[in-house]
Amino acid sequence: MELRCIECGTTYPGHGVVNRCTCGGLLDVAIAPVPLQHDLFDQRRGTSDRILRSGVWRYRELMPPFPDSAIITKPEGNTNLYRDQRLSDWGGVDIWFKHEGENPTGSFKDRGMTAGISHARWTGAALVACASTGNTSASVAAYAATAGLPAVVFIPEGKISVAKLGQTIAYGPHIIQVRGDFDAAMRMVSAASERFGIYLLNSLNPFRLEGQKAIFFESVQELGWQAPDWVVVPGGNLGNTAALGKAIKEALAAGLINAMPRVAVVQAEGAAPLYHAWRNGFRAYTPVRAATVASAIQIGDPVNYTKARNVLRETEGVVTTVSDSEILASKALIDRVGIGCEPASAAGLAGIRRLVAEGVITPGERVLTYLTGHMLKDTDAIVAWHLQGGGGDAAKTPIVIDEAPDALARVLTDILEHAAL
Ligand SMILES: *Cc1c(COP(=O)(O)O)cnc(C)c1O
Ligand SMILES: [Zn+2]
Repeated sequence: MELRCIECGTTYPGHGVVNRCTCGGLLDVAIAPVPLQHDLFDQRRGTSDRILRSGVWRYRELMPPFPDSAIITKPEGNTNLYRDQRLSDWGGVDIWFKHEGENPTGSFKDRGMTAGISHARWTGAALVACASTGNTSASVAAYAATAGLPAVVFIPEGKISVAKLGQTIAYGPHIIQVRGDFDAAMRMVSAASERFGIYLLNSLNPFRLEGQKAIFFESVQELGWQAPDWVVVPGGNLGNTAALGKAIKEALAAGLINAMPRVAVVQAEGAAPLYHAWRNGFRAYTPVRAATVASAIQIGDPVNYTKARNVLRETEGVVTTVSDSEILASKALIDRVGIGCEPASAAGLAGIRRLVAEGVITPGERVLTYLTGHMLKDTDAIVAWHLQGGGGDAAKTPIVIDEAPDALARVLTDILEHAAL
């Protein structure tokens, strides 16, 4: 196994630790394509094998070839794929939701982390680190704790949800709060990693992207190995976009699927550097100062920009943006049908609705989107939307009463009248 620079093609050994090529380019794990049978993966479903029961390591032939002893798995993956007629009607097209919030720490980051931390352990890392808007830090902290490796996480002060901060603290890493935004935290951890030789677990890490490929593999396996027409993902640091593109190419090369889905990336209006670059034909890329309620995608200078650009070119992909109010309205709908997700995850559905309205996605096509994080990741956003009136008529507020039979009777009569409508 080797790492290959996506810019100049220079290769590096896979058992070493290198964050970037000397030319500055991003690195990819080079996996030689071999033909693979569906049976191989179908037979592994439901196994109790420590490694193969993971929704990542089930696809071991498509993952970095670490020895069994290096693999740290909780296990991750094996998440549900939902479809709900009400959401399809609202989006205007048939939609499948892969719920990555059902991973061990509540986001898709765990899929990447099992691969990243296993590589860290295999290479003998003494300390692992990341910068994070909260989900990566929770995942790094949990997997480092599982592996017994010390970890240090860099978070932008005041810019991550209380739930994510609490979860991260609980797993016991060292936490450095940077006065600044995510991009500032990212610059600091990158510099620290170079200077002190700390193992970096951001999605710059090509091994993390290997694990994240499995979201796509598992989705198409559940769809009977039929590729959807579109895969729609929220875009922040663009690791997911990069991993998805690599997964599509490798699934095609292995003969696991026989059609190439198109990729659509959805960014928040206030954090849309990829969108602006895509609009100008990738002639210019300008980082932005990011601002959105969807904190997991509040990133102004995505590390994986170049990889994402290549994926969009190779899959006839598109990029769109959605406003914070569209994100929160689509989240409320996903919540209300009983599925639930965190705000950033709902950008996918909001983006689908927009792309259908614009005629880019057409009715009759099959669309897959990733729900990237769990509903409990950001309860502040839920309470604010519902209790502070942001949601208008769709908002739900608790009805407060005294312990009095009359008061209860009035409320229940009202509820029953509405139920009968
Ligand atoms: C990390 C994250 C994203 C953004 O994914 P990228 O790979 O950085 O583009 C979106 N949603 C949630 C919930 C996340 O945790
Ligand atoms: Zn290079």
